[in-house]
Amino acid sequence: MTERIVSGAAMDGREASERVATLEAEVRKLHTVLDGVEAYVYMKDREGRYTFANGKVCELFGRSLDGIVGKTDRDFWDAETAARIAAADATVLDTGEAAALEEVTRLSGVEAARIFLSQKSPLRDAAGNLVGMCGISTDITERKQQLMTLESTTALLHSVLNNLDAFVYMKDPELRFLYVNDKTAALFGKPIEAIVGRTNHEVLPRDVADHFSATDRKVFAEGCKQVMEETSVGADGRTHYYWSHKIPLFRGGRAYAYLGFSTDITELHETREELRRLAMTDALTGLYNRRYFMETAEREFREAQRYGAALSLISIDIDHFKWVNDAHGHPVGDEILSRIARELAEHARKSDLLARIGGEEFLLLLPHTPLDAASALAERIRQMIAACRFEGHWQGCIQPTISLGVSTQLASDETLEGLLIRADRALYLAKANGRNRVCVLASGPAACMPPDLVCDDA
Ligand code: GH3
Ligand code: MG
Ligand code: MG
Repeated sequence: MTERIVSGAAMDGREASERVATLEAEVRKLHTVLDGVEAYVYMKDREGRYTFANGKVCELFGRSLDGIVGKTDRDFWDAETAARIAAADATVLDTGEAAALEEVTRLSGVEAARIFLSQKSPLRDAAGNLVGMCGISTDITERKQQLMTLESTTALLHSVLNNLDAFVYMKDPELRFLYVNDKTAALFGKPIEAIVGRTNHEVLPRDVADHFSATDRKVFAEGCKQVMEETSVGADGRTHYYWSHKIPLFRGGRAYAYLGFSTDITELHETREELRRLAMTDALTGLYNRRYFMETAEREFREAQRYGAALSLISIDIDHFKWVNDAHGHPVGDEILSRIARELAEHARKSDLLARIGGEEFLLLLPHTPLDAASALAERIRQMIAACRFEGHWQGCIQPTISLGVSTQLASDETLEGLLIRADRALYLAKANGRNRVCVLASGPAACMPPDLVCDDA
């Protein structure tokens, strides 16, 4: 009879077979447990032959446990995979240390790769000798694919946001930056890390931050998309204009952030301003043109009418200007016209409205100015022009004079028309009375000869 030593005690045949039966039951129980594990569990000997595979491995290989035990990875995986697995297993068997690794695998005859996260540990016998290895692998193919999709989506989003010709940013309700694209960071002159997590006031100069904060708060207060023009002074000291869209983002019915897109429209703004300026000014003199004068004068007229304020008008015409052209040529005429316009502009107050109405005719509208003050100003202007001696690339000096007609708004005036006609009539009288003089038409219907015509004979 063969003697077996189990736990140091001798056993007879019956005891031994009972013990074997118990152990077998134990092993079956362990197998059942391992079969239920949602992972691939396997054991291999030092030569890479399977000594155990749980249910999931059997399912994967399409074999029963008996069909797996004794076989190697070359029997199931394609050659490349089997070599890779063998190399990974070898490190565990060579070093005797556990290893965790990602394994990209292909079953033989199957095109699609599967990725496993594997934990491989050495197996030792009772004497501590390395007898094989045990592996637990989880299939992370889907997770990995999701991660890769997420990574490529994020990379795509980053490249779109950073190549857009726009400033893109996100802020929370405390006006803290949650995101800025490269262009925004460059505009602020700070790295992205120095902006994200900080408020407008921590990142930007105070006045710019105040301005942005006001518009930012509006997004959260109104809870709907805001489209607005914003300004800030750039590092170049120039005022920049932005066209901004700020869109609140909601979660659980509450705006947790807003997404902003701003485009620099400084050039567009400047072009628009230039066009506006051109549309309201006269090209030769730079003074306001007739159209702008009429629009503004209409407004001033209604204001004066509403508040009972004084409003006066001076009509100005250069005397014998035709002679300047005839004697010196049209370009010299232009030059003299411009110089007279400049002199007139210097004598107009900030609140006055000076315009070139036609050829060599100007209008000067004087808000909050009664007739006597307007007449006095007209006389000062007349004297000032009469004292001018214009010299240049022409023979001699040109000494122009001007005639001026002054009128004022009357309580009976229903439109600007009366004021314009009376100033024109006064101007006509100044011409008729010898030029280089001021005539004032205080009241009376414009179509009649004025009863209280005042002619200055200075
Ligand atoms: P007065 O007003 O004193 O009666 O004489 P005037 O010669 O100024 O009068 P008139 O209205 O007959 O002529 C105005 C002249 O102004 C005619 C035109 O040659 C000149 N003129 C008008 N616009 C321009 C301009 O843009 N450039 C130049 N060079 N001349 C102009
Ligand atoms: Mg004239
Ligand atoms: Mg004229």
